[in-house]
Amino acid sequence: MGIAQQYKHVSQEVAEVCKNAGRSPQEVTLIAVSKTVGPEGVHDAISAGATQFGENRPNQIMEKAYLFPQVTWHFIGNIQSRRIPDIVESATLIHSLYQLHHAQKINEAAYEHSKKQKVLVEVNVSGEESKSGLAPAEVLPFIQECVKLPNLAVCGLMTMAPAGSTTVAREVFAGLRELFEEIKSQLPPEHASLFTELSMGMSDDWPEAIAEGATLIRVGRAIFSDSYEEKAFTC
Ligand SMILES: *Cc1c(COP(=O)(O)O)cnc(C)c1O
Repeated sequence: MGIAQQYKHVSQEVAEVCKNAGRSPQEVTLIAVSKTVGPEGVHDAISAGATQFGENRPNQIMEKAYLFPQVTWHFIGNIQSRRIPDIVESATLIHSLYQLHHAQKINEAAYEHSKKQKVLVEVNVSGEESKSGLAPAEVLPFIQECVKLPNLAVCGLMTMAPAGSTTVAREVFAGLRELFEEIKSQLPPEHASLFTELSMGMSDDWPEAIAEGATLIRVGRAIFSDSYEEKAFTC
């Protein structure tokens, strides 16, 4: 299968998994993570109907957002201070914020671009040392600082599950959803109403993420790799 066909295949599966989970497919946005392919790969996915793309490197998101301004670009990678102006220029949503000095710089860059930058806060639910993000207990105080920044809109939470077990992944996603609900209930109404997104689930675990309430799933290999082996989905 080529990229266009794989994109169609995944998006049909997403609709089916939503149905089985009792959710409307409109509630779940499929982000095609195009970090391993060049512009031709993005072009193929667009031809199959993709409108949302994710990148984890500032140079890549800048180049591709410039070439394909008709689709929406998500920044899902590690944030470096000096690249924040570039990221803010290209990204509609930044998924990977967890440091206050980055929040402040994003706020300044967003002001320069006369925009309100949407961000998600990355949470290390599993506590794995190799993963970035805040510990769950740190998230509410962090968000309470972020919402003071006028050009930032805190739209929800993001996590990555440990690889290897869909059972563990599902527990991690359930943990993120519980934290999300807890935080939403503590935010003042004007901020709670913007706090709507749960970015969780990748090629190997997106069905579990949908079952636990994901609103954004980030799928790379299942769309863009020609050697991805699909497993039998269980939910
Ligand atoms: C690469 C990446 C993905 C996509 O992972 P796949 O396993 O290829 O689907 C999702 N989220 C983040 C943060 C990534 O870096």
